[in-house]
Amino acid sequence: MRRYSAFAIAREAFRQHKGWSEAWSSPEPRKQYDVVIVGAGGHGLATAYYLGKRFGITNVAVIEKGWLGGGNTGRNTTIIRSNYLQDPSAALYEKSRALFETLSQELNYNIMFSPRGVMMLAQTEHEKRGYLRTERANALQGVQTRFISPSEVRRLVPIINIHGPRYPVLGALWQERGGTARHDAVAWGFARACSAMGMHVIEQCAVTGVDSANGTVTAVNTTKGRIACAKLGIVVAGHSGALADMAGFRLPVESVALQALVSEPIKPCMDVVVMANTVHGYMSQSDKGEMVIGGGADQFNNYTQRGSWHHIEETVRALVETFPMISRLKMLRQWGGIVDMTGDRSPIISKTPLGNCFINCGWGTGGFKATPGSGWAMAELIARGEPGPLAEAFSMTRFREGRFIDESVAAGVAH
Ligand SMILES: Cc1cc2nc3c(=O)[nH]c(=O)nc-3n(C[C@H](O)[C@H](O)[C@H](O)COP(=O)(O)OP(=O)(O)OC[C@H]3O[C@@H](n4cnc5c(N)ncnc54)[C@H](O)[C@@H]3O)c2cc1C
Repeated sequence: MRRYSAFAIAREAFRQHKGWSEAWSSPEPRKQYDVVIVGAGGHGLATAYYLGKRFGITNVAVIEKGWLGGGNTGRNTTIIRSNYLQDPSAALYEKSRALFETLSQELNYNIMFSPRGVMMLAQTEHEKRGYLRTERANALQGVQTRFISPSEVRRLVPIINIHGPRYPVLGALWQERGGTARHDAVAWGFARACSAMGMHVIEQCAVTGVDSANGTVTAVNTTKGRIACAKLGIVVAGHSGALADMAGFRLPVESVALQALVSEPIKPCMDVVVMANTVHGYMSQSDKGEMVIGGGADQFNNYTQRGSWHHIEETVRALVETFPMISRLKMLRQWGGIVDMTGDRSPIISKTPLGNCFINCGWGTGGFKATPGSGWAMAELIARGEPGPLAEAFSMTRFREGRFIDESVAAGVAH
């Protein structure tokens, strides 16, 4: 793989850009791999990448039914933060946030990480108390956050109305090194690095069945034929229930559509990410100038990967008191992705009833920020057969044992 560099761009400029090679190859599947990962979203690709990088396992196929990153990875609102309440979550999300800091250099691919700062507004006394608690928990966990005053909120976000009649801004939980990254670039960067290690990223290839014998997976059946594997990783977000069903076990997850929308592009007016969890809306401004707006999840389980009119109205109506200027914006696009929600709003990185089959799911509305950390922890689980320190609390047996990792405040809103 040729490295991308300023020198390479200059060289190609003289050759009319004819010397670039493809970023990742599109091979036909082999009959057998050491590890098959189902799902080429960010998490599946990051898992493959760290399998190769940390454990030297490169006879790996990542199998994707659509196009690379075309699931939730390419549909999210790109917010990255680690200000969670419980210790296992803070450790996992902070590891991930830290990996994002240097991911462009590591992958030699510009993922446009922008640590512009993320604030979660406190708009009720109850919410303020909750965020003060999180601020203190974060201090003990080594996650840098602080609770800021309404005037500081106003200084950082001049377009905000802090004196709303229903929901005045009482302060905010502020994470200065949180931010955003270009979501598809994260998938593309990992795919390119996997391909360079000799792994196969196979697009347009749906897994339709899982073969097993004596409690272990032997192969997956796909639309491109049967592929045998020594180990299987299932990393398919909203379709985890369907894949678990193929493998013969049940998961404590529900799938729902989560929606987002963007406005027409406008001049730069907000250079931080703002989340207003009481009213269920959050907003940032993309590099193109669009206001990227996210709202809540659908109230019913479904697999419809698209937006709906009432959601635009609900989300914009909720945000307009705090951001009056958006009442004059035209909305350009809306879309939806299928997210997989667990009861405690924390993910599952776990062994399964099948000895050589591992699952990574349940990231719900907030897994983009976890992409590298999730891949790091999942690779360790697949390579060693046992979870490492980052993953051990996230076993799916916790639901049977009553060891919930309750993040309904940190992750209760869509983000
Ligand atoms: C509107 C929206 C906004 C969001 N905003 C944020 C945010 O701001 N910050 C944040 O941290 N998170 C956010 N999220 C959540 C985040 O997008 C997800 O948690 C994360 O992207 C999950 O990544 P993944 O790689 O596990 O899943 P995906 O990217 O969905 O990848 C799974 C892949 O598996 C493939 N697949 C499924 N079934 C099969 C099969 N049978 N065979 C082969 N392949 C299969 C799918 O096609 C898909 O490409 C948001 C989600 C949505 C929908």
